[in-house]
Amino acid sequence: MTSEAGASACRVCGAEKAAFRLEARGYQFFSCQGCGYVQIDPPPSALALHALYGEDYFDKGKYVVDRAERREQERRVSLLRKAGVKTPARLLDYGCATGAFLSHAKQEFDMWGAEVSAAALSKARDRLPDLSGRLLGLDELDALETGFFDGVLLWDVVEHLLHPVEDLRKAARLVRPGGVMAFSTPDIGAVTARLMGRRWAFMTPPEHVGFFDRRALFALMKDLGFEPVTSFSRGKWVNLGFLLYKISRILPELVSQETVGRVRRSAFGRLCLYVPTGDILYAVGVKQGA
Ligand SMILES: [Zn+2]
Repeated sequence: MTSEAGASACRVCGAEKAAFRLEARGYQFFSCQGCGYVQIDPPPSALALHALYGEDYFDKGKYVVDRAERREQERRVSLLRKAGVKTPARLLDYGCATGAFLSHAKQEFDMWGAEVSAAALSKARDRLPDLSGRLLGLDELDALETGFFDGVLLWDVVEHLLHPVEDLRKAARLVRPGGVMAFSTPDIGAVTARLMGRRWAFMTPPEHVGFFDRRALFALMKDLGFEPVTSFSRGKWVNLGFLLYKISRILPELVSQETVGRVRRSAFGRLCLYVPTGDILYAVGVKQGA
């Protein structure tokens, strides 16, 4: 299929052929016929992005540490272990937000963090005063020497980047040869994603502007000089309260806001459940070259 109107070259592999995939919240997405990356086109305006990542972006309550979140952090650590990352590797949490993973992993690893949002960075510094000298703005990364880290971690980051290859070159430079780049990101190749289409939980432009399946993520890694070594897809650990809230948004006639509020305030709201959607992709690549 030839490129359709509105689709520009793939921002991961450069291929020019793309097929219209879907429209969500007024934004169009196209699937690259070369690598499978699904990108927003045309890109959201700077104004739309600025309005999105305001002061309160990290204050939605989703960064509260609870059991569901702890399970997610444990899963990330086991991914690193599986890829051969050993204590006390020096790791950069790129897009560390308010420091949830840093706080979980700092006992085992020499953790550093980088974050684009100054508000989130300052919260992370308040939360982790012992790491404050290692929590940096993205510009400050340029001062670090090449190969400074044993690994760079991109937890739920790549789906936010308009130009993933260009944006991540800086981070890739900081990994030593033999070191790793680790990812978690929504899996556009998952059955759930295909079935739900524009109603898929992660289909939230302009917050998410590009989606990967395994093939596309591997293409990104190779562009950046990394060889993929491990990957898997999993569902999500959630609180019952959060799950009901999500259902109430999709099917308000089934679950009322009042019920959601009551459950969230009760002990049941904190029940931790596994939802086997299989739509979160985890992967690690190893940096090539001596
Ligand atoms: Zn592509």
